[in-house]
Amino acid sequence: MNPTLRSALTWTVYPGVMLISILMFYSLIALGISSTISSYLAAIVCGLGLITVLELVLPYRKEWLPTRHEIKTDLIFMVLVQVLLPYLLTILSVAFLGDYVKNMGWNIHGWWPHSYPIWIQMLIMMFTADFFRYWLHRAAHTWEPLWRFHAVHHSVQKLYWINVGRFHPIDKALQFICDVLPFIVLGVSKEVLALYFVVYAVKGFFQHSNVDTKLGWLNFIISGPELHRWHHSMKVEESNTNYGNNVIVWDILFGTYLLPRNQAVDDLGLYNRDYPMDFVDQMKAPFVKGIDKEK
Ligand SMILES: [Zn+2]
Repeated sequence: MNPTLRSALTWTVYPGVMLISILMFYSLIALGISSTISSYLAAIVCGLGLITVLELVLPYRKEWLPTRHEIKTDLIFMVLVQVLLPYLLTILSVAFLGDYVKNMGWNIHGWWPHSYPIWIQMLIMMFTADFFRYWLHRAAHTWEPLWRFHAVHHSVQKLYWINVGRFHPIDKALQFICDVLPFIVLGVSKEVLALYFVVYAVKGFFQHSNVDTKLGWLNFIISGPELHRWHHSMKVEESNTNYGNNVIVWDILFGTYLLPRNQAVDDLGLYNRDYPMDFVDQMKAPFVKGIDKEK
């Protein structure tokens, strides 16, 4: 690819794809399509489609392209842990917790600013959810019982968008408690949750993507791929940083921000290079003693 075009693309693809996905979401809603379907179409068809193409035409590291076997395992994680599990947890939360809160007689819905514009509510949700996720993620790296489950996510030795879903279900359920459950209980509207999903999903695909993209000053706000690669470093002192899910401000505030200038991350993954990589084995791995990131 022409170097000038490549340079221009590295600086524009992240904000470009994010903007196109959000515009598509609003356009579909304007056409009368439900907010849930609009969010799936915008995030998956538009965001994901574009990021898949970008991984092929603008790869960060050619050696990080996945094998067929890796894609197969990642897709099992994506369907079971990223789609079905949150769907089930949402249904259960609404069914049981909704009634419980109602019966308690608390006016909990009044605690949320429902009258604010949707995008402002989405930003409030994002910064609040990320605060809880930050501490969960930090604990998952520093407290061994949680690390055992989170190690599944860190077992990957290269980053590409499909392996963003590689989480143990216990780890994923804990994340759900931080970044979805409180907002269901607070009665946050479907439209706000749908817009949050678009940003959350496109951000997530980009965060793990093998796309050569640069965020510049946005690296002080957004938890993008340049920061997240350091979080997956094999070196513990590098991977115990950049815990932010959507935003990176909590890392800056609590002293865990890392973005070395003009340096690229070395090996990714766990010190244990024999850590199991298939789906069933990874479900069992947290219960096997001695699997750790330490040497
Ligand atoms: Zn982590």
